[in-house]
Amino acid sequence: MGKTTGFLEYERKEGAVRMEQERVQDFREFHDRLPRAEQQKQAARCMDCGIPFCQAGVMISGMASGCPLHNLVPEINDLVYRGRMAEAWRRLSVTHSFPEFTSRVCPALCEAACTCGCHDAPVATKEIEKTVIEYAFAHDLVREPVPPVCTGKRVAVVGSGPAGLAAAQLLNRRGHEVTVYERKDRPGGLLRYGIPNMKLDKAVIDRRVKLMEQAGVRFVLNADVGRTVQPGKLMEGYDAVILACGASQPRDIQVPGRDAKGIHFAVDFLGSVTKQLLDSDFKKLPDREVKGRDVIVIGGGDTGNDCVGTCIRLGVKSVTQLEMMPKPAITRLPSNPWPEWPRILKTDYGQEEAIWKFGEDPRIYQTTVSEFVKDRKGRLKGAILVSLEPVKNDATGRIRMVPVEGSQKEVPAQLVLIAAGFLGSEAYVTESFGVAVDGRTNVKTDAGSYASSRDKVFTAGDMHRGQSLVVWAIAEGRNAARAVDEMLMGYTNLM
Ligand SMILES: Cc1cc2nc3c(=O)[nH]c(=O)nc-3n(C[C@H](O)[C@H](O)[C@H](O)COP(=O)(O)OP(=O)(O)OC[C@H]3O[C@@H](n4cnc5c(N)ncnc54)[C@H](O)[C@@H]3O)c2cc1C
Ligand code: SF4
Repeated sequence: MGKTTGFLEYERKEGAVRMEQERVQDFREFHDRLPRAEQQKQAARCMDCGIPFCQAGVMISGMASGCPLHNLVPEINDLVYRGRMAEAWRRLSVTHSFPEFTSRVCPALCEAACTCGCHDAPVATKEIEKTVIEYAFAHDLVREPVPPVCTGKRVAVVGSGPAGLAAAQLLNRRGHEVTVYERKDRPGGLLRYGIPNMKLDKAVIDRRVKLMEQAGVRFVLNADVGRTVQPGKLMEGYDAVILACGASQPRDIQVPGRDAKGIHFAVDFLGSVTKQLLDSDFKKLPDREVKGRDVIVIGGGDTGNDCVGTCIRLGVKSVTQLEMMPKPAITRLPSNPWPEWPRILKTDYGQEEAIWKFGEDPRIYQTTVSEFVKDRKGRLKGAILVSLEPVKNDATGRIRMVPVEGSQKEVPAQLVLIAAGFLGSEAYVTESFGVAVDGRTNVKTDAGSYASSRDKVFTAGDMHRGQSLVVWAIAEGRNAARAVDEMLMGYTNLM
């Protein structure tokens, strides 16, 4: 159980981060790991509280509390504290497919539900997860086994994001022949062409994909199923198909002037920056459209933050991030008690960098764009911002954000990035497979099931649950793999 009095003796510590002035000069990761002795102290802080909410992964008030993969957090912490790192890795690998991804990008639902966090800082579980997986890679413990027996069954996975990769990994281990179809030129989904390199080094994805390929998983890239690859081919050639195409339909901002040149969806922008960096082996900075510009990012969430950090690295003149909702509280409100996910103000790396560079937080709350302003050539030259105020609908009790009359003001902008979330999956895939979708265009299944309305066709990840998190996509991919295995074999022994 870690050290009995560890949580009383040691303070929470995380690995050092490179200072803003240094890290904005490149697109490299900026979080270092703790020294070995400190890693053990951090693991010693776990008090084995008896009811490990950290590994529960249950929904409370509509939000997940604890790890959706049910990682055996107290047991792993204990093994790290005792220096039994190989065993810690084996324990972690029971529930997790890719700790190297979540230990870099997960918002750490486990830590928000940590009992230690009731009265003090929570155990640094995400940091410990990184310690374990990087130890395992460094000591050649991470192996992708070649299946000893082949079942003769063939499975096609459409989409190589974390959901598709997790499903492919388990099904291949079981001995099924797995082919992953991906419409992009490189595998990884939003791990590759969404999350920026400074948060998740793309070599980390390559390292994992290589292991999977060596174990027999086949990747077919530049294969757009529903367009360049016909679904009929997959339905005939495979015993099961898993649709894991993400929720890639972005929410637009439909206001006058939307057709101005210089307005992009955040994911298109972030993906193209990463692609240019990868294509040039990080030698070329893709700054042509960005350097020296005034940028507005619409959306105050994590994607918007990634845009802010990327824009700063590309040398923008100014960056403003608009958020429709009011500024969150600094600490938990009584209406949002532990172990619920805390709805509190978070200042992420991009915002920290903006504060360092421009002297103020880039976020403006309760504000949106009411019009884009174009020059005579149709290029974006500004935006009209409008303040919003919350108004309660007496009948439903719901709050709506409505424009404040007379609050409009024009600001300069030559680049706008829309990071306003996603609506759901893309119709050309679901329609070409003939699967039913729900009101949000996610592939419809019964509750707790991964089988679509069409025989042999399953689904996982954002395409199933809507825009979510990497950890949920991995959990869904693993669950879908079990469901497919059960359909193919009559039972499943996949963990
Ligand atoms: C900018 C950004 C930053 C994010 N940051 C974080 C973060 O820090 N932490 C976190 O936990 N989550 C983050 N998320 C959310 C997370 O990335 C997603 O929840 C997760 O990647 C979903 O995984 P998925 O496998 O379901 O889908 P995706 O990752 O979207 O992968 C779907 C794949 O399917 C492919 N595809 C789609 N249609 C077809 C087709 N017809 N044929 C072949 N291939 C197809 C796509 O090209 C894509 O590669 C972020 C999201 C964005 C947009
Ligand atoms: S995957 Fe995320 S929620 Fe689960 S233990 Fe790791 S950091 Fe915590």
